[in-house]
Amino acid sequence: MMAMRQALLIHYHEIALKAGNRGFFVGRLKENLAAALEGLPVDRIVHPDGRIAVWLKDDAPVEPVIERIQRVFGVANLAVAREAGRELAEIADVAWGMLGERAFGSFAVRVKRADKNYPMNSLEVERKLGGMLMERAREKFGPQVKVNLDAPERTCLVEITSGVVLVAVDKLQGPGGMPSGTAGRLMCLLSGGFDSVVAAWYMMKRGAKVHFTHFHATPERAGESSAPVARELARRLTPWQFGSQLWLVPFEEIQRHIVAKAPSEFRIILYRRMMLRIAERLALRKRCLGLVTGDSLAQVASQTLHNLRTVGEVAHLPLYRPLIGFDKEEIIAMARRLGTCETSSQKFEDCCPLFMPKHPVIFSELDSVAQAESGLDVEALVQLGLDGATLERFHFKAGEVTVETVVKAGESDSPES
Ligand code: ATP
Ligand code: MG
Repeated sequence: MMAMRQALLIHYHEIALKAGNRGFFVGRLKENLAAALEGLPVDRIVHPDGRIAVWLKDDAPVEPVIERIQRVFGVANLAVAREAGRELAEIADVAWGMLGERAFGSFAVRVKRADKNYPMNSLEVERKLGGMLMERAREKFGPQVKVNLDAPERTCLVEITSGVVLVAVDKLQGPGGMPSGTAGRLMCLLSGGFDSVVAAWYMMKRGAKVHFTHFHATPERAGESSAPVARELARRLTPWQFGSQLWLVPFEEIQRHIVAKAPSEFRIILYRRMMLRIAERLALRKRCLGLVTGDSLAQVASQTLHNLRTVGEVAHLPLYRPLIGFDKEEIIAMARRLGTCETSSQKFEDCCPLFMPKHPVIFSELDSVAQAESGLDVEALVQLGLDGATLERFHFKAGEVTVETVVKAGESDSPES
């Protein structure tokens, strides 16, 4: 028998609704698929009639291809597909070749006919093909095999395009969302905990390219510093967007100033305000269009509506908090799915625990915070953070994440790179 050509058949949903800009979004999706699949035996990526087919070289294993495609935003679902001839009997042969590999009790055939010149309509193909497959299934697996259109155990998809006929079984979920790089850049304040990394992922899912700023105690102490945790999280997220930048900002000295000059109950709010200001300056340098944090309403004392307001007040860029309405359990479930949970549960000190107040203010007001901050030279502290910042760049290429360069802040770093 001739080697069977295999493809991954990919559908996108939301992009299809973008009437005028569809070409831009689909073009980026195809580029992203090509980048994600680099190094795997892919023959070519084609785009017949509103779906994408990734054709594999002969005998290429599909699992690694599936794994990579499941991290490409914009993919609504995917399925392993084979090419069939245009005659019903040929379609049935290919379909049975895929379906008949393991036993099942119920199935459905779903046909999409993009080629309106095909001599039968979708419903006719579904009925006839269903009958042919039923006969073979009952013969092999027993008389109990049924057609079940609502909740079939197995599904056979037939796509009749003007070029090829594709037959696929058992659709898999893609990540959904919009293709990476279609929405502009954001800067996420990445803490090393569970939340901010999940927050970043949600913004990435909608097409934003997200860079990271992490504030750590100085110096990086072996075994207890948060910087390696932030680095590992940035590394984990990089395959979703192909490239990331992580700014590491030493924060202990800034905290010491706040501890020395401001009332203790306001410390956490003042730390957060300084973090936002510094991250915003780095964001503007990178032409980011907004900031992202992992705040969730009322999760901790600094996340009351009062404190979110007094902290957020210092930002000029829009501040996005995609987890604001999430419960901790929902966030942790997502962290598990993303594979960041274990890293985020490591013990580390991002800020010196000695600097944490015993009784942080829970319902802060703008004027009392301004008063508490009045003894600080805010601009000098921002500059102190910027001067100490270092930049690390992460790249995803041929299935591997590498850290390409480490440069000091202030050195040339174009927003694009
Ligand atoms: P997370 O799980 O993300 O650490 P959290 O529940 O611990 O969040 P907070 O510590 O109050 O909440 O932090 C709120 C947000 O402030 C974080 O989600 C993050 O965006 C930002 N943030 C906190 N600490 C840091 C840090 N050391 N570096 C960068 N951002 C930080
Ligand atoms: Mg935290």
